[in-house]
Amino acid sequence: LQRLRARLARSNTAMGHVLLALLSREGLSESDWEDVEDTLLASDLGVEATTELVNALRTQVKIEGTTDPEVVRSWLRTDLLRLVDPTMDRRIAASRTENHPAVILVVGVNGTGKTTSVGKLGRVLVAEDKDILFGAADTFRAAAADQLSTWGERVGVPTVRSQLEGADPASVAYEAVKAGIDLESDVVIIDTAGRLHTKRGLMDELGKIKRVVEKLAPVGEVLLVLDATTGQNGMRQAEEFAKEVAITGIVLTKLDGTAKGGIVVNVQRKLGVPVKLIGLGEGPDDLAPFDPEAFVDAIVG
Ligand code: GDP
Repeated sequence: LQRLRARLARSNTAMGHVLLALLSREGLSESDWEDVEDTLLASDLGVEATTELVNALRTQVKIEGTTDPEVVRSWLRTDLLRLVDPTMDRRIAASRTENHPAVILVVGVNGTGKTTSVGKLGRVLVAEDKDILFGAADTFRAAAADQLSTWGERVGVPTVRSQLEGADPASVAYEAVKAGIDLESDVVIIDTAGRLHTKRGLMDELGKIKRVVEKLAPVGEVLLVLDATTGQNGMRQAEEFAKEVAITGIVLTKLDGTAKGGIVVNVQRKLGVPVKLIGLGEGPDDLAPFDPEAFVDAIVG
């Protein structure tokens, strides 16, 4: 976790340094404030949140009449934390209830890091001593199920998959949950396809997977995987998904090596659901629960 924090800090401090340097100027001019706005926008915080934050800071500077870096830092910290919203429930529903496992459906566009995140989440839950199963419901590409099985072997989680390319994704998901019931697993994590060029088909497929699985057990968690580096385009995709399936949480990947952390605030506001997990690299240990305080600390230092 320390290592992940350091990685997050590296990618966020660039933005933090710029902001603090700008904000501690004597007698902030109109163009200084525009620079502050530009920096926040460049982090993908979004127009609305940026305007709100800048207005709050301007008011504080005016009322208190100081640009002392330490004071400004504490304002920035408070205002950012409020935007990130520490009150949201970010726990992952991962406990067996009655006679069935917790079911987690993982959705998102191809390439965002879906399969990788399923693998890493498996690792996190195995470390909590839970019995996990993966379901490979991306049956469109044989390579997708292979990739998931490989992750399964890596983190010690069996994968339920179909040998047939093009099998019905809902039936694979059903089999995975059924196996989870028979084996008394704690959690079944289902990886889904993300071919966006057949959007209607994809959304219908996700709906069907959910309906079919829910004949056996409720789907307690639908996690949307979003690539932090894809900006407005990624946001639009996220909104498309959220319109069609009831998302319960966001996994924001590739936050390592990007200063675009502001997207956390943006996506939470747009979708009204919390960022629950963040991806900070390609390795099995590079997934962390999203911690608002640590996130803001990484920006303001
Ligand atoms: P999927 O098509 O959505 O299932 O995406 P994959 O899981 O295959 O991931 C696509 C690429 O993104 C792979 O090369 C992953 O190693 C990489 N990736 C996934 N998550 C992260 C992350 O948090 N950070 C970085 N740097 N790379 C990631």
